[in-house]
Amino acid sequence: MNKELLNRIISYKNICLKMKELGFFRIFSVNFSDALGISPVKVRKDFSILGIKGNYKGGYDIDYVIQKIDEILGKGEEEKVIVVGVGNLGSALINYKGFENVGIKIVAGFDIDPKKISAESTPPVYFIDDVKKFIEEQKVTIAILTVPAIAAQRVAEMLVSYGIKGILNFAPVKLKIKNCVVNDFHIESELEKLLYFVKFELKKQKKEKE
Ligand code: NAD
Repeated sequence: MNKELLNRIISYKNICLKMKELGFFRIFSVNFSDALGISPVKVRKDFSILGIKGNYKGGYDIDYVIQKIDEILGKGEEEKVIVVGVGNLGSALINYKGFENVGIKIVAGFDIDPKKISAESTPPVYFIDDVKKFIEEQKVTIAILTVPAIAAQRVAEMLVSYGIKGILNFAPVKLKIKNCVVNDFHIESELEKLLYFVKFELKKQKKEKE
C-alpha cells in the first residue's frame, strides 16, 4: 500500500471517530471528502479498493468502517510503545492519554538522567540500562525516540539490536538503520515548509493586488 493511501486511511478512521463522538451512526463519502479536501469519488474508490462496503444513498456504517480499517492496519490487541528520552517532548508524550483511543499504549519511558527516573509513576520511567530486559519481556516492537540529536543514532542502533522494529524519530537527524522502519517527525522542517508556503502565498496575493 502506498504512503498516501495509508495516510488517507488513518484520516478516514479519525474522521469516523470524531463523527461517532458527535453521535452519528452513518457517514457519507462527502463527509470524508469535505474534511480532507479530496473528491467523494476518490473516497469511494479508496473504499472499494479496501473492500469497505456502503451505498451511495445510505452511506457507510461508522463502526463497520472503523472495524474494517483496524483490520487493514492489522490492529488487534493494544500495541505497546516505549518512549526513549523523557525530557520536554518525551514527558509530554508519555503523559498524553489520547493514544489509547487508537489502540496504542505507552507502557514505559527510559532515560539516562537519574532525576527523570520514576518507577512508581504511570507509565513508569526506568533507567536506560533496563530497556533491553523490558523490550524482551514485554515484547515491545515500537519506540518513540525523543533523545537529543547527538545521541539519536547510537540509541536507535541499540534499540534495534534489542528487538525494536519501528521507530518514530523526533530527533532532527536522519537515522541510518537496518531492519527497522523509521518514521521521522521533524517539527522544524515541517515549520520551515509551512513558513515557505505562507510567504509564497502572501507574495502571490501582493502581486495580484498590484
Ligand atoms: P530534552 O533535552 O528536554 O530531553 C531529552 C531527554 O533525553 C533528556 O531527558 C535526556 O536525559 C535524555 N537522554 C539523553 N541521552 C539519552 C540516552 N542515551 N538514552 C536515553 N535518554 C537520553 O529535549 P526535548 O526538547 O525533549 O527534545 C527531544 C528531541 O526532540 C530532540 O532531539 C529535539 O531536537 C527534538 N525536538 C524537540 C522539540 C520540542 O518541541 N521540544 C521539537 C522538535 C524536535
